[in-house]
Amino acid sequence: MEKEWAEYYGVKHAIAVNSATSGLYCAAGAAGIGPGDEVIVSPYTMSASAAAVLVYNAIPVFADIEEDYFCLDPKSIEKKITPLTKAIVVVDIFGQPYDAENINEIARKNNLLVIEDAAQAPGAKYKGKFAGTLGDIGIYSLNYHKHIHTGEGGVVVTDNDELAERIRLIRNHAEAVVENKGYTSLINMLGFNYRMTEMEAAIAREQLKKLELLVRKRQENVNYISDQLDKIPCLKTAQIRPGCEHAFYVHALKYKQEIAGISREAYVSAVKAELMPIDLREKEGVNIGCGYVKPLYLQPIYQRQIVYGDKGCPFTCSYYSGHIDYTPGICPTCEKMHYDELITHEMIRPPMNNKDMDDVVEAFKKVWENRDELK
Ligand SMILES: *Cc1c(COP(=O)(O)O)cnc(C)c1O
Repeated sequence: MEKEWAEYYGVKHAIAVNSATSGLYCAAGAAGIGPGDEVIVSPYTMSASAAAVLVYNAIPVFADIEEDYFCLDPKSIEKKITPLTKAIVVVDIFGQPYDAENINEIARKNNLLVIEDAAQAPGAKYKGKFAGTLGDIGIYSLNYHKHIHTGEGGVVVTDNDELAERIRLIRNHAEAVVENKGYTSLINMLGFNYRMTEMEAAIAREQLKKLELLVRKRQENVNYISDQLDKIPCLKTAQIRPGCEHAFYVHALKYKQEIAGISREAYVSAVKAELMPIDLREKEGVNIGCGYVKPLYLQPIYQRQIVYGDKGCPFTCSYYSGHIDYTPGICPTCEKMHYDELITHEMIRPPMNNKDMDDVVEAFKKVWENRDELK
């Protein structure tokens, strides 16, 4: 499975793990991240992208996102780099590759490692190159909610032999095997059990064969629905970065309250009331949301700075000489997207077809046409 994965993505090493979270932890460990280090992370991502930094007692520093593509903004990254910065965790959010050209250049200049969280972007491409292979280490997810899945699972990819070896060690109780392997650097060689099972690997081999088709189906669905949604004056479907192929984990829209005259929340809840939840996932309700996840730095562990025990570690670690800032307002674009403008939905997942999407468009249209009743 690992060999096939490496061939498919055109990388030297593919390392199977039991989740993308485990993969991110392996990557951060292999990168040598530790106490006193800062790592620049996107605030608009699933919690694990930043937790991988905390796990190694380092400090996540949140840079702002791009207004058009919602990935880390290179201009904001530059402002957040300090002598303590060790790496950047970029996220191909919603299935859109990060700005690899500019961010990789910043990383090279500042001698930083790029860890690419591609959990949402398997099969996406940046100038012909697969998302996940754009940084130094890339991570894919195989959890049930992703494009292809094995129930739970993940894969880490890299072209770097030394990083690959360290990732493999951390996956499998490093401290117990380093001696036998003659491995001498002990940094972060505290092991875990992040092994994928044979059964999941067998499923992953079959799933990988379907990836291209499933991504193409999402792209076709998005093309179909975008044309129609863009005719509704208060909606604007999100842009695709030039030169990229988007994998559309979710489909993003921007909402213009000044045109609709009603709040985004009122609009979206009326649309949801028109639609049905997906079969067998009824408890999740209709998959349309205002924004995505709350900006990470506004969540309790960052606001209260409690992670390990109750003494404030790693934030108050005596090896840390920097300055932590998690105050509301540090990433204004992220907050504007989350609290005002962004709508995300999943009505483009296979096996949804054009007829299903017509229902979705109809709901968005109906609420637009009757918006005065919601005022
Ligand atoms: C899903 C996801 C993860 C975690 O994936 P698991 O396999 O469930 O651990 C990490 N990062 C992002 C951006 C994700 O969407």
